[in-house]
Amino acid sequence: GRDASETLLTVSGLSKHFGGLKAVDAIDFTVTRGGIHALIGPNGSGKTTTLNVLSGLYTPTGGTMRLQDQDITSFPPHRRAAVGIGRTFQNIRLFRSMSALENVVIGAERPNNPLGARDRPALEARARSALAFVGLEARAREPISGFSYGHQRLIEIARALAGNPTLLLLDEPAAGLNSSEKNALTVLLRRMAAKGLTILIIDHDMTLVSDVASHVTVLNFGRRIADGVTASVLREPAVIEAYLGE
Ligand code: ADP
Repeated sequence: GRDASETLLTVSGLSKHFGGLKAVDAIDFTVTRGGIHALIGPNGSGKTTTLNVLSGLYTPTGGTMRLQDQDITSFPPHRRAAVGIGRTFQNIRLFRSMSALENVVIGAERPNNPLGARDRPALEARARSALAFVGLEARAREPISGFSYGHQRLIEIARALAGNPTLLLLDEPAAGLNSSEKNALTVLLRRMAAKGLTILIIDHDMTLVSDVASHVTVLNFGRRIADGVTASVLREPAVIEAYLGE
C-alpha cells in the first residue's frame, strides 16, 4: 500500500526576486503524497509567485525543487507537466466559444497522458470522465459562455484532472464562489485527495483551508513564517498577526 508519509515535493531555499523585490525569499517546505497542503499568507506574500515557480512559468532566482527523487528545478513547464505537475490559474483561462468537453480535452492532451495525442476517442473519454468527476458531464457539449462562474471553475479543475497529474497546484479555486459553491468545492477537493491525488492549494478562505488541508505553509513578505499541521499553525501568534495586518 501507499506510505502515507512519503514526501512527494521538496522545496529547498526557493527564491524568486523581481529586481530588488524579494517576492519569494529562500523558502523551504515539503508536500506529502496523497494529501492537501495549503499555501497561505496575506496579499502580496508570494503565494502565486511560488506556484508560478513550481509550475515552471518562472525560473527561480535560487533554490531547488524535487518531485520524488527527481530534481525538476531546471525543467520548463511542459516537462513539469510530463512528470505530473498540473495547475489551475487564479483567473479563469477557458476558451469561451468552445464547449466544456473541448476545453477539457486540451487538458487531456498534456504530455503526462499515456494516451496518444491523436487518439481522439480516448482523449474525449478521459475528458468526459473528468467532467463527470466534477458533476458536469451532462453539459459536456455546451459552450463555456453558458456556464455560471462557479461551474467554469469546476471545468478548469476538470481540465487539470484530465492531464492525469500527480501533484495538482490550485491557485485560489474558491475565489468568487458563493457559500454553497464553496461547500461543493470542499467536497470535491476531499474526493480528489481520496483518489490519491496530491494537492497544493492557495486560498484566502480560512474555513476552506481548515476544512480540507492537513498541512499548511504560511508566507509573509516572501518568507516562510510558519509551517505544519493546519489547526496548530492557524493558532500561531505570528500567523494571526500577519493576517491582522491585511
Ligand atoms: P500573493 O499571491 O501572495 O498575493 P504574489 O506572489 O502575487 O503574492 O506577489 C508577491 C510580490 O511579488 C508582490 O509584491 C507582487 O507585486 C510581486 N510580483 C509578482 N509577480 C511579479 C512580476 N511578474 N514582476 C514584478 N513583481 C511581481
